[in-house]
Amino acid sequence: MQKPVIVCLDLEGVLVPEIWINVALKTGIEALKVTTREMPDYDKLMKQRLSILDEHNLKIGDIQEVIGQMGPLEGATDFVKWIRERCQVIILSDTFYQFALPLMRQLGFPTLFCNQLEIDGTGRIVNYHMRMQNQKKHSVAALKALNFFTMAAGDAYNDTAMLGEADAGFFFKPPDHLPKEFPQFPVTQTYGELQQRFAKAGNL
Ligand SMILES: [Mg+2]
Repeated sequence: MQKPVIVCLDLEGVLVPEIWINVALKTGIEALKVTTREMPDYDKLMKQRLSILDEHNLKIGDIQEVIGQMGPLEGATDFVKWIRERCQVIILSDTFYQFALPLMRQLGFPTLFCNQLEIDGTGRIVNYHMRMQNQKKHSVAALKALNFFTMAAGDAYNDTAMLGEADAGFFFKPPDHLPKEFPQFPVTQTYGELQQRFAKAGNL
């Protein structure tokens, strides 16, 4: 008897646009365009982002409004629906619940494991809290220990440990250099291709 299948998906770049880059574009605040590519120290980067939001007096409600206007990537809602009709799905993301909320609503509220922002009574974002380090990899390992057959898809460096841990891991629209570094993960460019890979590997 085949084990039940669970699919773990990255969020940004797979189902929704990159959140911070789009907040920068939509608010016109250049300084928010800095990412981990320019500033590898994530803690320093997040503290800088939060102080920029303070400088512009942007509260969580303002940011959620901007994020709500982004919408999921075209076809993402149907893609999630396709998976949920066939097996279980969990979204594993490094973002924050309060940021993801407007997008999750549009995706039909699939299960999401991510992190928390600390917000005061006025809506000011005062701090951020990572639930744990390397949660993507640990989550897949835990699901395997629960006797699921695990499949995963992601687009970036922070997904490679998750893809490696999964019984079947796939890239979705990765930057060109990544598959050269990690040739063990098949590359998919469309939801249709990823569905085919999932269907074959997971016997869906
Ligand atoms: Mg991503």
